[in-house]
Amino acid sequence: MAVPRIDPVLDAEARVEPNMILVPPASAAHDWHASSWFEGGWVMPMGGYLLRSADRTILVDAGLGPEAPAGIDPSAQLLDNLGTLGVTTEEVTDVVVTHVHIDHVGWLAPQGQPLFEYARHHVHAADWDWIRSGPASGAGTDGVWDILGKVSDLVEIASGSRTEIADAVAMRLLAGHTPGNCTVDVETSDGPVVLLGDTAYHPVLLVEGGWSSHADLDHAGAARSRETVADEAERSGALLFGAHFPGGAPGRVVRDGAGRRQWCSVTR
Ligand SMILES: [Zn+2]
Repeated sequence: MAVPRIDPVLDAEARVEPNMILVPPASAAHDWHASSWFEGGWVMPMGGYLLRSADRTILVDAGLGPEAPAGIDPSAQLLDNLGTLGVTTEEVTDVVVTHVHIDHVGWLAPQGQPLFEYARHHVHAADWDWIRSGPASGAGTDGVWDILGKVSDLVEIASGSRTEIADAVAMRLLAGHTPGNCTVDVETSDGPVVLLGDTAYHPVLLVEGGWSSHADLDHAGAARSRETVADEAERSGALLFGAHFPGGAPGRVVRDGAGRRQWCSVTR
């Protein structure tokens, strides 16, 4: 059965400079950050997505949370925005953690107590083992194990390359950004949807070769994972949502008449 609804659940936003995050190919112009890709600036969302089917309410990623790291504005809207969608924390049946960075687990245990107390929390084994073995797993990992340790009784470890979460919803290992980084692949009545998490920080990483991101732990692995996603999406026509794409806009990978990959942004 297809998942009828996918809704973004915003927690916070930050305006970022492209060169804080992206590394262009060597051939890029020196003013690459002023190209049309970055017109209007990059307002980066942080939050999650809510998937609702007849019997499941699945939150994919849990935002930055109420105790944001220094230097980031903690607007902490996730709970309010869940409420606007008509969902209480008790109604969430599953939380899928695409990867163990602080901006994806922030609401799991505010004040040290599990917030989604009736939900199974799905984390990939490769990320679980990596963050548990800390310290110093890199940017974005401070405090993450403190949070995950508080929900460990609720965690179901995913392993292998693909884990079915519910009918039409699966986690898929696409390592690189972190060792256990996953996408969430969803079959909807409008066709396939891929929630990328941070597999790609920006659409340019999916359609132009040679880009990388400071945020990826394993640059070569992350590039391979992005190529897998882009190649499949081009063939399947999947709608792709990136956790931090500018303005949260999803899109599709298409090929133009000249045989070049293009990003086709979709207004929902
Ligand atoms: Zn992130």
